[in-house]
Amino acid sequence: MNADKLRGRRALAVAADSLSQQCPNCAQPLEVSSAVMLLLARNGEKSIFNNDCRFCLGCDVVVLDADYIQEIAQHGLPTARSFTVAGFVDLAAIPESQKNTPLGQNGNPIPFVEFASFEWRDSKSSSK
Ligand SMILES: [Zn+2]
Repeated sequence: MNADKLRGRRALAVAADSLSQQCPNCAQPLEVSSAVMLLLARNGEKSIFNNDCRFCLGCDVVVLDADYIQEIAQHGLPTARSFTVAGFVDLAAIPESQKNTPLGQNGNPIPFVEFASFEWRDSKSSSK
């Protein structure tokens, strides 16, 4: 995916059963597109994962599947008590010479496009 489209996004993690085709911020349509993201624990542990994201066509919001993220964190970061999704991993920015090295290992940095913000949004508790 074009890195420009990933830049400066405000991420909202929404419960899977509340995901819709409309932006929770501006009610514009969302475009579903797969992206690789970086999960960052407070203790410094990292995990990367791939999932469908919903990109708003009208504003800077991207909607993420909160239940899936929780599941990934349980498997990938079993000891982490607190974690956040830091941003999108920019696979195109990985040098050719490092393509066969696992990300984040042997001095291979993880290039990522940081979210402008990340927020857990529990629509169950916020619904009126
Ligand atoms: Zn929007």
